[in-house]
Amino acid sequence: MVKRVMIRAALVVLSVCLASSAAADAYHPDIVKSQVVKLDAKSIEANANSGKPIDFVFDDTKLTVVLSPAPVWPKEGLTVIEVAEDGSTKKSIVKAANITYAGDVVGEDPDESEARFTISGGVVDGYVMSSTGWWFIEPLTRFDPKAGSDQYLVYATRDLDFPAVDYGDDGVKADEVTGWAPPQPPPNLEIPVVMVADREYVFIDSSPVIDRQASLINRVNGIYGHQTGRTFKIVMSSIDLYNGTLKSTNAYALNMQLKCFIKGQPANCTPGSEYGSLNSMNVWFAHLTTGKVLTSGTDFRYGIGDEDGRFGLSQQSARVSLSAQNTMVASHEIGHNFGGRHYAADHICLNGNCGYTLMWPQYYASNLAYFSDGLHPGKDNRTNIRNFMAAHGFF
Ligand SMILES: [Zn+2]
Repeated sequence: MVKRVMIRAALVVLSVCLASSAAADAYHPDIVKSQVVKLDAKSIEANANSGKPIDFVFDDTKLTVVLSPAPVWPKEGLTVIEVAEDGSTKKSIVKAANITYAGDVVGEDPDESEARFTISGGVVDGYVMSSTGWWFIEPLTRFDPKAGSDQYLVYATRDLDFPAVDYGDDGVKADEVTGWAPPQPPPNLEIPVVMVADREYVFIDSSPVIDRQASLINRVNGIYGHQTGRTFKIVMSSIDLYNGTLKSTNAYALNMQLKCFIKGQPANCTPGSEYGSLNSMNVWFAHLTTGKVLTSGTDFRYGIGDEDGRFGLSQQSARVSLSAQNTMVASHEIGHNFGGRHYAADHICLNGNCGYTLMWPQYYASNLAYFSDGLHPGKDNRTNIRNFMAAHGFF
């Protein structure tokens, strides 16, 4: 849990409103209302590293957050594996400086508010969850290549509007549930994951793959940390640079290919013994961030997750998909891995916002970043997930 930190320095005003809402609406078809602000990434980074408050001014909303480093990479370095065109692998240990931060909104209940930011290469990216809404801040260059590097698009999730995404039967049966007796990891606050990237994800933009995956897991951690008491740590990043294995645009087939990729057996892979590969990597689960546009219709779309299993994937194509959507889809699919179920999802109201909870089988713009918590009988994914984590040694 994040702790409330007292203000102990003068506030620094870091943002200036620039554009009218009407102009900003054109940036993305799923955003009804947005705004453009200027942010000084260097000041934000300095304040985040020294625990000083940071002011964000969004139209008539002013939010002060206090951030502190929240690393999602191991201290000893992140293992990066890149599979080349000829199938050979290159392994390196990257000891990069921390880029992920977490905190709260000053003056709000620390159990309810949350801020998650990635600051890397002079660029800020993240969200603030507050009583005034769930605000996402993304570099404007993602939406407009001509934008200045200090310009950011800001939107609240209540101002999103898009056709519901049907997850379909995306919580699929895991291969190795029967007789599954994995080694019990020591009680740990951080659950280790290997993040996998396909070729399309690598080339979504020019920023480092490991930075984008760190940003995603940091944002997901903002949801899981509060509600389950556990977060995820990336111990390995594995990249199929030429899609030697990760070829399919069908989520189910792609998930099977992910298992083969982890096994290191792209050809004639027989699923059934991948958990041993994960165990030998000292990770609990694998999550593929795919840049492919996954097949829609009756097939799975946007993602898939093995129920109570250890593999899953989420579509993360930044050119068409907002940070808010990427966060929700990844959190949903990882939820399947850890005991979350569609039938145990609920419709609840939180701080005056009513919507379906995270594991609902459809993703509406109004879905809440919240697991059902037993308000209605049989609807308690939060306990399901906590129980699953406890049963596997993560408490
Ligand atoms: Zn699902």
